[in-house]
Order: sequence, then structure tokens, then C-alpha cells
Amino acid sequence: MPRILIVEDEPNMRVGLTDNLEFEGYEVDFADNGEDGLKKILENKYNLILLDVMLPKLSGFDVCRKARENKNNTPIILLTAKGEEIDKIVGLELGADDYVTKPFSLRELLARIKAVLRRADNPEIKNSAAKIGKLEFDFESYNAFEEGAPVQLSHKEFELIKYLYEHHNRTVSRDNLLKNVWGDVYITSRTIDNFIVKLRQKVEYDVNNPKVIITVHGIGYKLIVPQ
Ligand code: CA
Repeated sequence: MPRILIVEDEPNMRVGLTDNLEFEGYEVDFADNGEDGLKKILENKYNLILLDVMLPKLSGFDVCRKARENKNNTPIILLTAKGEEIDKIVGLELGADDYVTKPFSLRELLARIKAVLRRADNPEIKNSAAKIGKLEFDFESYNAFEEGAPVQLSHKEFELIKYLYEHHNRTVSRDNLLKNVWGDVYITSRTIDNFIVKLRQKVEYDVNNPKVIITVHGIGYKLIVPQ
């Protein structure tokens, strides 16, 4: 049974969550402040952490950041307060996997928990992870990370780098990319070049000296994956 740690200082919320999650068959542990929460995260093995942001002693953000700094990759769902839009962005940048906004329905929370656990457990999804230059890609969930922090890519940027990755260490012509990444949409090869520029800014260690996505003059591009 998946083991979940709840870090939440409001007793009603904590008791309600514990009861409901146990009813759903999860094994539940809890902490009522950030300091104890972090200690438990680092000392025990959990499948998932539900982490309130507003906590005594250490905020949920600090707990999240310190857990990741200590190389703990247990999935974290942040419980953020309504109207605190900024919390979501900060939380995801600090390495949280998802968030729910209070007040949330039990049904919504259970759906998020299941989705996060599924992502963490599914070996197929793990295999869809790829290290390309500076970034780690998860092509299944369309996420990219730089040292654990999420990096924003457009859907088309994802499609493009995924296609290049599937054909890595081979030259892919612009015509091929036009046909297979853009389909029937009418674009010029100039558009492709612009997308490559954007991708390079994200994956290359030195944009002025690309080593990851290299240009094959007059033909197209090649994504280099060290063998
Ligand atoms: Ca709280």
C-alpha cells in the first residue's frame, strides 16, 4: 500500500485527510509542523507527501526545497491557500510535483494523488525520461527540468525535440521535420530554424557553440546523444 505523509498544522484538516486516505487504503503518517515534517521525510520512506504551505517552524516551501537539496525525490503535492497564485509557481520551481488549492474536494485530491503516484511508479514513464544537454525530459507527461526545477517549453518545442531524440545521432532533414512534426500546417523552414534557436537556449551549455543540437549544413539537424 502506498504510504503518504501529511504535513498539516490544522487539526481538522489533518484528521479529515487521514481518515479519508486510510479509508481509501493508503497508509498514513503525519506531522503538524514543517520541522517535524522535514525530519520525517528525510528519515522515512514515503510514496507521496501532502505538504501544506503555511506551517509553523518551517514553511512548506522550505520543507520542499530542503528535501530536494537533500536529494530526496519523494513526490510532493502542495496544499496552497486560495488566492495565492504565486504559491503554485514558487512551489513547482522548488520541486513540488503538483498542488491543490484549498478548499479542495476530496475527489479532486484523490485524483491528483493517483496521478502523481502513477507517474512515479510507472516504469514506462520512467523510461520515457531522457537527459538532453542541460535538461531532463519526461516525454510522457511533457515536463522538462533543469536540476530538478521545471522548465517551460511550448507543445511544439516538445514535439520537435522528441522527434529529434527518437532519431538521435542521425541527420534529420528540414523536410522530414516539416512533414513529421508540423504535419500539414504550412510553415517555412525558417520557422524550424527559429524553434531550434529556442530549444538550444534551453538545452545547450553554450548557446554560441552548440554541441547537443548541431546544424548539418544545407540539410537539417542532428541531436547528439553520447553513446
Ligand atoms: Ca496551515
